Amino acid sequence: MSSSDRAPMPFIDLDAQRRRLGDDLNKAILAAVEEGSYILGPQVKALESQLSDYSGAAHTVTCASGTDALVLALRALGIGPGDAVVVPTFTFAASAEAVALVGATPVFCDVLEDTFNIDASSAREAVAVAEQAGLRPRAVMPVDLFGQPADYDAIGDLAESLGLDVIADAAQSFGATWNGRRVGTLARVTTTSFFPAKPLGCYGDGGAVFTDEGELADRLRSLCVHGKGTHKYENVRIGMNSRLDTIQAAVLLQKLTIFDDELSRRDEAASRYAKALDGIVGVPALTAGATSAWAQYTVRLPAGRRDDVVAALAAAGVPTAVYYPVPLHRQAAYRGYSATPRLDVSNHLAEISLSVPMHSYLNADHQDRVASELVEAVGRA
Ligand SMILES: *Cc1c(COP(=O)(O)O)cnc(C)c1O
Repeated sequence: MSSSDRAPMPFIDLDAQRRRLGDDLNKAILAAVEEGSYILGPQVKALESQLSDYSGAAHTVTCASGTDALVLALRALGIGPGDAVVVPTFTFAASAEAVALVGATPVFCDVLEDTFNIDASSAREAVAVAEQAGLRPRAVMPVDLFGQPADYDAIGDLAESLGLDVIADAAQSFGATWNGRRVGTLARVTTTSFFPAKPLGCYGDGGAVFTDEGELADRLRSLCVHGKGTHKYENVRIGMNSRLDTIQAAVLLQKLTIFDDELSRRDEAASRYAKALDGIVGVPALTAGATSAWAQYTVRLPAGRRDDVVAALAAAGVPTAVYYPVPLHRQAAYRGYSATPRLDVSNHLAEISLSVPMHSYLNADHQDRVASELVEAVGRA
């Protein structure tokens, strides 16, 4: 192979997106700066209304990050000390962190091997574990890992039968659908993140909460701005400062104009990967009725092969990432919390998962290179 064949490629290409948006994006940012409404400028309202239209959720409340969105959702539902929230252990730390931050207790459950998403039967066991520990089970938090919605039918049934709320951590899945409905409408409360590398990302931190309930939305808005009442200097509850910046809203409004096209490009890239890699590594399975926002394209390698595969790909200029190397129940910060006795799938996925470059501007040449290097590396047993 010539050296140019091995030139490094990006894992996520935000530059290509920026070039595509070009002057419109520059102008939108400059306008936000020149207008001077840095906090809660008109772009924030416009964005919330467009996000509601897009998702189908009656109310969108934007905020400062995906982590804050989870904290706000938990607090709006009145979840706190003595309460348990069931969280999959194979996720990004923020899912469980938000539960602990509001004083409630995360109880960890396992995930399904083919989708990486919460296993409803393990979640049911976690509810029993919470009760045995003397906690009040209040909610279950499916996480739409790598962009695919969790099984909201199974989780909805479970939650209904046990009287739990569903808080969807959709930080990675905004834009995806489940049986024709968009993320944002699949749970009582849904949260997302606009961290730059997420499928819909801004140029800093940002997040949003979606719900169909007006009263919940009012509470979320109040919590977002220091527990405000009808005006800013009336404080009716202890809140926080978690507003989305006007500049970030301006960036997101521009990115929304190309979001559908970007999602379909990611979908095409995922299909090309599946065609090239199925049978060689475990390719991600889409549940019938689900579409994915493909936040990541994560394959399952043969056991014990990840280190050498990562090294071979790195030598060939192909970047990879490991999401997630240590499940939360084994992290120092979370070891003290309860969990279901069996978390075998999560433990196994933490050993064998590998994410390869995935973004809307992945060209076929780069993708062929990723696939052929991966095939070669895996075959070199
Ligand atoms: C990114 C992410 C979050 C947190 O979002 P931030 O905007 O970075 O705070 C929460 N949960 C999951 C699953 C995530 O991937």
